[in-house]
Amino acid sequence: MVLKEWVGLFTGLAISAVISAQAHVQEKIKKYNKVGRLKVDTTFQQSYLNDFLVPYSEFDDLHNCRIKIKNKKLKTTMAARPNFGSIFLGKRNRRYVILVNNNASFKGVKLEDVPQEARIGLFAHELMHIRDYESRKMTGILERGYQYLSVKGKKKVEHHTDSLTIAAGFGQNLYKWASYVLHDSEACDEYKSYKSEIYMSPVRILNQIESTIPRP
Ligand SMILES: [Zn+2]
Repeated sequence: MVLKEWVGLFTGLAISAVISAQAHVQEKIKKYNKVGRLKVDTTFQQSYLNDFLVPYSEFDDLHNCRIKIKNKKLKTTMAARPNFGSIFLGKRNRRYVILVNNNASFKGVKLEDVPQEARIGLFAHELMHIRDYESRKMTGILERGYQYLSVKGKKKVEHHTDSLTIAAGFGQNLYKWASYVLHDSEACDEYKSYKSEIYMSPVRILNQIESTIPRP
């Protein structure tokens, strides 16, 4: 091969490497859509995103948080947690992820079956987990992780999160979510009894809403 041919071959290879690298970057960018500081998995339905933005837009304190909505196989409908590595980087560098279950064989409650008003309640609840994490230092977040290891601890965290949801003005939506899960969903009995053990009951949610309304 003469020098000219070598140069031609090298240039061709270099160009195709650049093109494939660009394609890779584009693919990466397309995985998430940005809404302010919120990063949303492109496969997360637009109608869900609109419902998510109902509580999100009211929680000004969370608009500066780096939150990513991502699909994952879970044992529950959704989950919110801090990115583990970011816990140790200081509060300003903390990142959060809100996971949405995409396990087709899940025997619990699937987001697609949840009525809109109840779905907004669930989204508000997940966002309250982030408000709770934001109020905590690194040790406080690790404490939350520890509490999740026992049923008693989990119940404490989830009841607190439900209380925050009611205080944030989404009690009626939370009530619809809780009663949908227990009374109207297709979830198996085992899942329903787990839910009623850990989370606030619909009646308790209503009582708490009432007790937060100021008396004339
Ligand atoms: Zn929760």
